[in-house]
Amino acid sequence: MVKVNCPTCQTQVEWIAENKCKPFCSDRCRLIDLGEWASESRVIKGESLKQEMTAQIDEFSEDLPAADEPFFRH
Ligand SMILES: [Zn+2]
Repeated sequence: MVKVNCPTCQTQVEWIAENKCKPFCSDRCRLIDLGEWASESRVIKGESLKQEMTAQIDEFSEDLPAADEPFFRH
């Protein structure tokens, strides 16, 4: 059984498919790590910020020669 430590509270978490929050021990710890725990308005603000960032990344990606960039190699 693979176990990881929850990044937020260091509780040992079993790395199983049933754990939808992994590597966090709970949804609460996941939200704390994302910094979206303080209030509902904070969550909404975080969502719109995420969309803005995604839009910026999309814009940025268009300038990159996708296939030949070392960044995309694994
Ligand atoms: Zn935790």
